[in-house]
Amino acid sequence: MSLWDDALDTVKKTARQVGNAAGDVFESSKKHLKAADIRSDIKDRYLTIGKLCYDEILNGVSHSTEINAVAEEITALNEKLAAVNEEIRNAKNIVLCPACGAQVAKGSSFCPSCGQRFADSAE
Ligand SMILES: [Zn+2]
Repeated sequence: MSLWDDALDTVKKTARQVGNAAGDVFESSKKHLKAADIRSDIKDRYLTIGKLCYDEILNGVSHSTEINAVAEEITALNEKLAAVNEEIRNAKNIVLCPACGAQVAKGSSFCPSCGQRFADSAE
């Protein structure tokens, strides 16, 4: 391989690595946007429940069926949000401390927040 080929090869490798890093950043941004969207949807539903409760108090009309339906939607959205947050943590090699819920680097032997020791390593 000539010196020129060597240099070209290095440039190609670097471009690929930069491309992969940019792809990772893009994927990470997409996940964070998805999480923000879900949080916004949850907030909207809390607002809806608030308005329904206010109407109940103000006008004495029962909205319990609607409130229950919206509450179920919030529960489903919370599960979806938890799944997206787990994807984000997995991509960053982070796990949650089972004792206090702090974010801990995968493979840690103890939680830096509460001191909880992990049996083998935080997987
Ligand atoms: Zn902890």
